[in-house]
Amino acid sequence: MAHVMTAPPGGAQTAAAARPFLAALEQTLPPGRVLTRPAELIPYESDALTAYRERPLAVVLPETQDEVVTVVRLCHRHGVPFVARGSGTSLSGGSLPVPGGIVIGLNRLNRIVRLDPQQRLAVVEPGVVNLAISQAAAPYGLYYAPDPSSQPVCTIGGNIAFNSGGAHCLKYGMTSNHILGLKVVLPDGEVITLGGESLETVGPDLVGLFVGCEGLFGIALEVTVRLVPRPERYRTVLAAYRSLAAAGGACRGWWRRACCRAPLKSWTRWPSPLPKPP
Ligand SMILES: Cc1cc2nc3c(=O)[nH]c(=O)nc-3n(C[C@H](O)[C@H](O)[C@H](O)COP(=O)(O)OP(=O)(O)OC[C@H]3O[C@@H](n4cnc5c(N)ncnc54)[C@H](O)[C@@H]3O)c2cc1C
Repeated sequence: MAHVMTAPPGGAQTAAAARPFLAALEQTLPPGRVLTRPAELIPYESDALTAYRERPLAVVLPETQDEVVTVVRLCHRHGVPFVARGSGTSLSGGSLPVPGGIVIGLNRLNRIVRLDPQQRLAVVEPGVVNLAISQAAAPYGLYYAPDPSSQPVCTIGGNIAFNSGGAHCLKYGMTSNHILGLKVVLPDGEVITLGGESLETVGPDLVGLFVGCEGLFGIALEVTVRLVPRPERYRTVLAAYRSLAAAGGACRGWWRRACCRAPLKSWTRWPSPLPKPP
């Protein structure tokens, strides 16, 4: 389970202790963006690992980076733990609330700040859905390669925390290979930038350290991603083999001849209906 904690943790253990904190939150954000009623909190009790549930003290829905920073600083001041949440599709309790803590929902930070086809990069907010980046880049013949199966729903913030990947990652690498720079708010409210707009950076690879941290090091506020050219042509090949070993051997052959530029999917049974070509 991954949680971002503030220090010292557990400040708001009782309803009475939580009151000043909740009042401060409500003063900070416009009405309707601090959820505290049980019916409002239920959707945030778990992620896609529904075997575990924990009702948060509150859910906040910031719409700007400054609002996220203000909420994190309030949590730090009151010693209240928080968990960042994208679309909640984590399969391992990543966005499960901490007892006595709040959830910071980031879906409303969903702007593509800049798309630079010349530099082959995009600067996006953390709540941008993975697939939306490729859709925005498509007119320029570019796309964002890491493709978890949840890509029509999951956010780039969640992808970063879990270093997510999919079928294209066999060829192009995981999320960590496609993040150039990050603007982050640390658990004590300090805002820092890591990396930049190039794969070549000076000094330790702090972007690499942050990607895959499961939300423990801070909240990504802005993300610079690398875009790659879309393949010129797709050909879909469906082949049947008598064993997984034989199928694996065939894939190895295609890779060796460098004729495979797209994802490979395997089924142990014939799918019905057959998938449509991309
Ligand atoms: C049907 C299905 C298919 C899936 N397929 C794949 C797959 O092919 N490959 C794969 O890798 N995963 C897969 N997953 C898992 C999941 O979709 C990924 O881990 C995804 O990256 C989670 O994104 P999210 O926006 O839902 O994040 P959430 O579940 O909301 O959060 C995940 C983690 O990210 C942290 N987090 C969220 N936003 C931020 C932020 N801005 N800054 C810092 N931390 C943050 C959270 O605290 C949490 O620890 C699948 C899940 C489902 C339900």
